[in-house]
Amino acid sequence: MNTKKYRVAEGGKLKLSAFKTDETGRGSEAEALARIDERRPKLAALQERLYAEGRQSLLMVLQARDAGGKDGTVKHVLYGLNPQGVTVTSFKVPTPLELSHDFLWRVHAHAPAAGMMAVFNRSHYEDVLVTRVHGLIDQKETVRRYGHIRAFEALLSDGRTRIVKLYLHVSEDEQKQRLQARLDDPHKRWKFNVADLKERERWDDYTHAYQDALAATSSKAAPWYVIPADHKWFRNDLIGQILQDTLEDMDPQFPEADFDPATVEIK
Ligand code: ATP
Ligand code: MG
Repeated sequence: MNTKKYRVAEGGKLKLSAFKTDETGRGSEAEALARIDERRPKLAALQERLYAEGRQSLLMVLQARDAGGKDGTVKHVLYGLNPQGVTVTSFKVPTPLELSHDFLWRVHAHAPAAGMMAVFNRSHYEDVLVTRVHGLIDQKETVRRYGHIRAFEALLSDGRTRIVKLYLHVSEDEQKQRLQARLDDPHKRWKFNVADLKERERWDDYTHAYQDALAATSSKAAPWYVIPADHKWFRNDLIGQILQDTLEDMDPQFPEADFDPATVEIK
């Protein structure tokens, strides 16, 4: 599967309406599920090499509207990896302590250590999305923050962290159905949050904020991908492919022993 067409070009303008939300690729759901199963051991082997090598790290940033599928992505795409090598951090409304620092302070602390893979379920991008939509920061501050974000990601990248940023792109109608399901299904109701309805009313404002942020911060070192996410199986297949391509490109290696194994005798 060619993942390039989902990548956001560096610089320039971005129109989310140019990206489909309900793409299914060329194949069927059954084919995608088979590919996902086939890929799982490959991802696990690559992650083991990343961990064993202990030099590089991988950061996956997940952004989406409510019910966009961030939790489902974490559950399905990471399934089968060694939990010891993965951290998942969900960024919520900042605490008073977090707010008393700069917006990257709480985020930097969770960047992946060498050998690790880290997933951000929401991220520093909330600080140019929700804050902007709610008028907590103005245009000037938003642009200043884009600059801080680019510099921060360049810092991580210089320290051998590969960054992949994924925007899970769902339609307004798909979100409605998912929120309705959370309301109707007693096993999903714990996820229902009335506040999500208020955010939904600002659909277009979020569209503009996302378009702006993605275009301003997609770079070679830290590219954004717009993931068609109405179909969960397509989303999982595509993200799995991006993860595999990225890890293969990083090509982590098992380290050489710093001693001669032939000289060691275990009695
Ligand atoms: P779901 O998609 O399942 O609803 P969630 O990620 O929305 O999960 P919640 O606990 O419902 O999890 O919401 C977290 C909330 O925290 C979101 O509304 C998000 O916008 C908000 N948030 C995260 N980071 C920031 C930030 N830096 N500033 C303001 N709000 C933030
Ligand atoms: Mg929520």
